[in-house]
Amino acid sequence: MTSSTLIAFDLDDTLYKERDFVISGYRAVAHDLTAIDSAFNFDEMVHAMTTAPVNPFDSLAEYLHNRSIQQSIVLDYDIPRMVATYRNHFPDIKADNSIATIKRLITDGYHIGLITDGRTSTQTNKIKALGLDRIIVPDNISISEAVGGEKYTPLPFERMMKLNPDINSFVYVGDNPMKDFLWPNRLGWTTIQLIDDGRNVHSQQVSLPSDDYRPQYRIKSLDELPTLLSTIN
Ligand SMILES: [Mg+2]
Repeated sequence: MTSSTLIAFDLDDTLYKERDFVISGYRAVAHDLTAIDSAFNFDEMVHAMTTAPVNPFDSLAEYLHNRSIQQSIVLDYDIPRMVATYRNHFPDIKADNSIATIKRLITDGYHIGLITDGRTSTQTNKIKALGLDRIIVPDNISISEAVGGEKYTPLPFERMMKLNPDINSFVYVGDNPMKDFLWPNRLGWTTIQLIDDGRNVHSQQVSLPSDDYRPQYRIKSLDELPTLLSTIN
C-alpha cells in the first residue's frame, strides 16, 4: 500500500484490553467509597464487583448495605452514582504494543484514524490515558456519541472518508465481527481482525448474519501490521 492509505483502528480490545478498563473502573468506585467511610474495605468491594454473579454494582450495593447496617453508617451512594463514577473516571490502562505500532506506521507514511463506539467522556478519557490524542489528529478520532452514529451504521466510516478526500485506500483494524467489518467491507475498505488472545470482552466465536461481516485478514498481534500492509496491494 502507498502513503495515501489511512489506517483506522477500533479502540476497545484492539489498542488495549477492555477488561483492564473494567477493573480500573471498579477500583475507581471502590476508591471513592473508602474515602467516604473506612468501614468500606477496598479489596472487599473490588472483589464483590469482580465476582458478581450478574451485575457488579448490584453486588457492590449489597455489600454496602450489609456493611452500613453492621456499622450504623448512613450512606448516600446509589447505583447511578457508581455507574457515573465508572464511566467518567480517568482509567489506568496500558497501550502495550499499540502505540509503538502506530508510531512505526506513521514513520512508514500511513495516515492514522480511530473509530470507536461509546460515550464521549468515557472514550476520550481512554484515548488520553493511552496517549493516542498525541499521535492521532483530532479530526480523525471518531467517537459514536460525538459523531452521531455507531459502527452498526455506515456513518463513522463515511465520515472518515469525507474528512480525508486525498486518501485513496482505507483500512479498518478491529476485533468484533458483529460490528467492525460489515460497513468498511461494503465501502471498499481493507478489513483486518486482531484475533482474541482469550481476554476479550466480546467473543469472536459468533454466528454471523452474512459473509460480509467477516474480516479480510486476521492477525495475532498488531506487530504483524506493518508487514501485512506492505504485502496488500
Ligand atoms: Mg473492539
